Amino acid sequence: MRRTVSFLLAALLAGLAAGCTRPVEPDLTAYVGGEAEIPIEILGGLDEEVRQALTQEPKYVALTFDDGPRADTTARLLDGLLERDAAATFFVIGEQIPGNEDLLRRMETEGHQIGNHTYSHVRLQKVDTDAVVEEIHKTEALLREVTGQETFWLRPPYGFIDIQRAQLVKTPMIYWSVDPEDWKLLNKDRVVKAVLDTVESGDIVLLHDFYATSVDAALEIVDRLQAEGYVFVTVEELFRIQGVEPQPGTLYASPQKIRPLQ
Ligand SMILES: [Zn+2]
Repeated sequence: MRRTVSFLLAALLAGLAAGCTRPVEPDLTAYVGGEAEIPIEILGGLDEEVRQALTQEPKYVALTFDDGPRADTTARLLDGLLERDAAATFFVIGEQIPGNEDLLRRMETEGHQIGNHTYSHVRLQKVDTDAVVEEIHKTEALLREVTGQETFWLRPPYGFIDIQRAQLVKTPMIYWSVDPEDWKLLNKDRVVKAVLDTVESGDIVLLHDFYATSVDAALEIVDRLQAEGYVFVTVEELFRIQGVEPQPGTLYASPQKIRPLQ
């Protein structure tokens, strides 16, 4: 955490010096061992708001998007995230990959995490174990082919999986800690409010890039929370920042909170 704070301080100061307000890229591997010290004469000359941003512990949040990729909405979301220098995590449905390969390549090159949301969005606890393995593997194979990456964390559809079937999962599984029910609200302002009313540093937020209203809401959430000093990271980065090594077959609501399976 200290390393990240130092990095953010250094980057913020560099940004100030250059008169640039571009958000800081959360590159957690950079500046290892760098210890930024802010001379008092610089701190004293800053606005109160900027001074607070520099001296406060940074806040992190992971936005996650399920049920894509979808050509129009996902592309617009990627454009908006790129403009804002915000990272996110996409749990994609295998069936929707053919024809949308370019969107997955964009996610990879633009610093997002790609996860597996099964091949046909089944309730995993309702199908037999062979089907569970097939649903996961089919999507994994497509993702490997398109991206060249090896491992894709799983978000079980609806967040449901039981203990027996979870043993078949060879990667960590990700639930969420903030659910604005965007698929039900289908209203940008209400989704934004539902997230902003509850979100805290370290949260994993569930959204769906399948809906235009959710894309609009997500971009406004990024704007509003960046103004409060939040940095948007992938789920994997959130675990790394918090020093938690996620375990295969375990369902996490956040790095600090394991969701019990039945
Ligand atoms: Zn879903």
